[in-house]
Amino acid sequence: MATLGNPQETIAVLKKYGFSFRKKYGQNFLIDTHVLDRIVEAAEIGPEDTVLEIGPGIGTMTQYLAENAGQVVAVEIDDALIPILDDTLSAYDNVEVIHEDILKVDLQALAREKNQDKPFKVVANLPYYITTPILMGLFESKVPLKSVTVMVQKEVAERMQAGPGTKDYGALSLAVQYYAEAGIVAHVPPHCFMPRPNVGSAVIKLTLHEIPPVVTKDEDFLFKIIRAAFNQRRKTLCNALANAGLTGLSKEEIGQILQQMNLSENIRGEALTLAEFADLTGRIIQQRKA
Ligand code: SAM
Repeated sequence: MATLGNPQETIAVLKKYGFSFRKKYGQNFLIDTHVLDRIVEAAEIGPEDTVLEIGPGIGTMTQYLAENAGQVVAVEIDDALIPILDDTLSAYDNVEVIHEDILKVDLQALAREKNQDKPFKVVANLPYYITTPILMGLFESKVPLKSVTVMVQKEVAERMQAGPGTKDYGALSLAVQYYAEAGIVAHVPPHCFMPRPNVGSAVIKLTLHEIPPVVTKDEDFLFKIIRAAFNQRRKTLCNALANAGLTGLSKEEIGQILQQMNLSENIRGEALTLAEFADLTGRIIQQRKA
């Protein structure tokens, strides 16, 4: 039975080890059993699953995951938490804690060594200061994934689901769309954490596409174009791309391509759909070859 997930037990563990929270590691531990149940339920964790947890903290969610999953691999950066995890997870023989920075872990090697290259389900209450690098790292590593169910800052969850023409729409929205189907599972108020964060939170589930919704010959280049378009989001797409100097084409040439796509030369990147970005990328590649 999971023993953590309430304020009393969390305080008892923290006191026992004289643990002090480190703000720099985005430490806000979950102290609400309903939220923990909801996350595990949304992630649809069963005995056939291997879960990759990022930032187990004192092991609260890890206990819930271990109760339900076949195997849990948890990656934690903070030295001070390692002896605590040894203790709080001692009853589970299906959990392995890896003391590492998730941004430095070779995810492909991890999948090979710990899960015979079968897909992981990622579940985490993420350290908010590195939400985007963690998610982009997971996607771009091409590590086999079934789903990613994570607690993030509420505004970031909204950005992930945003569509063209909205203020929240950006490179992250397009990356999420390219790789996954996104759905907000729950909104979580600050009092469900210790210490309380200054922002609202949401659990979002990303279910990976088996086939990407658009076809591109060069995924890397597609995302370079997308990032360049949003790096200067107040500028027209032509200017933003010409200034980024990554296409090898002039502003006029990019304008002509947009016209061929029946788009205005003055359009901004924030108005383009993922399919239009993919089309634009293909045409730029074609023109560079010509
Ligand atoms: N899972 C725990 C919970 O829900 O109570 C803790 C979540 S807390 C929001 C984020 C956790 O990520 C902390 O334990 C923190 O030390 C860890 N962390 C921060 N940066 C990390 C990194 N680069 N790699 C691995 N873990 C990290």
